[in-house]
Amino acid sequence: MNKLLIATNNKGKVIELQELLKDTGIELVTPADINLILDVEEDGKDYAENASKKAIAFAATSGLISLADDSGLEVDALGGAPGLYSARYSPKPGANDADRRAFLLQNVKDKPRPWKAHFHATIAIAKPSGEVEIVEGNCFGEIIPEERGNGGFGYDPIFYIPELNQTMAELDMENKNRLSHRGLAVMNAIPVLKRLFGV
Ligand code: IMP
Repeated sequence: MNKLLIATNNKGKVIELQELLKDTGIELVTPADINLILDVEEDGKDYAENASKKAIAFAATSGLISLADDSGLEVDALGGAPGLYSARYSPKPGANDADRRAFLLQNVKDKPRPWKAHFHATIAIAKPSGEVEIVEGNCFGEIIPEERGNGGFGYDPIFYIPELNQTMAELDMENKNRLSHRGLAVMNAIPVLKRLFGV
């Protein structure tokens, strides 16, 4: 019970979460490390429901305390879309991140700029018994029409942070983690984890 399972199959998230949690003194494992193949359907009505569902399923199957994140990009001019559906936001079968960015840009192109947006992350931490705790983080910025930067994943190249004059994909991992939605949610998760692991 002294290991924390990073309950996600998204490689971009695994890398960020490993970096964010590396100094906690808690041993981290991924589903691949323990040969666990589990796909949880994200059919909840909000981020908290999806994150809880993932964390609870991974914790029950592995017997380990599990941390799951459900996140998304909310664009004001699109009424908060793609939001909960960020990972599936494209009509194209087999769409990848680039297709989803292109679809988003096509949908905002006729709206007045700036295209204000924020990333949201909800983290759920579940015990194998099914008890779950929830924390959140947000990162505010705007969508820009041209891609900039090669870092990060998902919508990062078109998510611009005016205060830094950089997109999320232009930030190095240390800076992305310092101010991203997931970074802020993890900061809120650390006291919960320290309590659960007694470290
Ligand atoms: P889910 O949490 O697995 O439902 O996936 C959330 C989706 O939101 C990802 O697949 C990305 O498309 C998008 N997303 C979440 N966090 C980030 C981020 O840090 N950068 C870029 N896109 C993100």
